[in-house]
Amino acid sequence: MRLRSLIDDADAIIVGIGSGMSSTAGFNHYNHAGMTCAGMADWQKAFGFKSLFDGFYHLYPSLEQQWAYYARYIDFMLREPASQPYLDLRSLIGHKDYFILSTNVDTQVEKTFPAERTCNYQGSFAHLQCKQPCCDEIFDASPYVERMLAGMAGFEIRSENVPRCPHCGWQLVPWVRDDTFLQGTAWRKGLERYEHFARERGSSRVLLLELGVGEMTPGIITLPFWSMTAKLPDAHLLSVNISGDSAPLQLGNKAEAIRADLRTLLAAARVTKVFKPPCQSL
Ligand SMILES: [Zn+2]
Repeated sequence: MRLRSLIDDADAIIVGIGSGMSSTAGFNHYNHAGMTCAGMADWQKAFGFKSLFDGFYHLYPSLEQQWAYYARYIDFMLREPASQPYLDLRSLIGHKDYFILSTNVDTQVEKTFPAERTCNYQGSFAHLQCKQPCCDEIFDASPYVERMLAGMAGFEIRSENVPRCPHCGWQLVPWVRDDTFLQGTAWRKGLERYEHFARERGSSRVLLLELGVGEMTPGIITLPFWSMTAKLPDAHLLSVNISGDSAPLQLGNKAEAIRADLRTLLAAARVTKVFKPPCQSL
């Protein structure tokens, strides 16, 4: 098992996690099945949404309706426990020196790995921020969600439960990447943890592991990983994706790619023992 032996041989592992990891974990934000799985078939039926993201980006006639959808969607993500592919990944790398850089916002990374070893580059639905934003503060989403759900009637929440910024009174919004995304202290700290980890391990045997990273935002994981692999003397890149298995040619034998379903691959790697030949006696 190539994945397992690369992990065993590395001194440090930097994992880049993209949307393919969430899909294989059952978080299908982009299709019909995801809506049913999230228990939101009622919204699908009433509004004709094709996916959870469809509902998230819909232009609602009122904040009460918009937040009714957000509250249900966020509640689903908060309630879901850490899923099997994430747990398998943890058991594979948990004993090693590792860091996780993720573009997923569904809270699975923070449920599985300690905060000091992670960076949520695109934010997380576990938090809200001021929409302006007027302040450098992120707020725990769960008390807001609980309050909205408790007062919800049909597809609307009560007006007084629309989340408001305690400082300026303007709306709060989920702390996820869009044009008002707050890149404040919490975000910068995550990025600093990642950069510090990568800098400190530069001279050791570093495995850069790309899991389910798509082509939407190459500037966050893919291109920096290529650049690190090229620059660091003992770095190796392994990219795992369901849609392709081409490694960048310019990296030569420092890079390889596997086309596989992550759920299956991580489960298999977790139970595989790598055969190490015994030391030859003189
Ligand atoms: Zn504010």
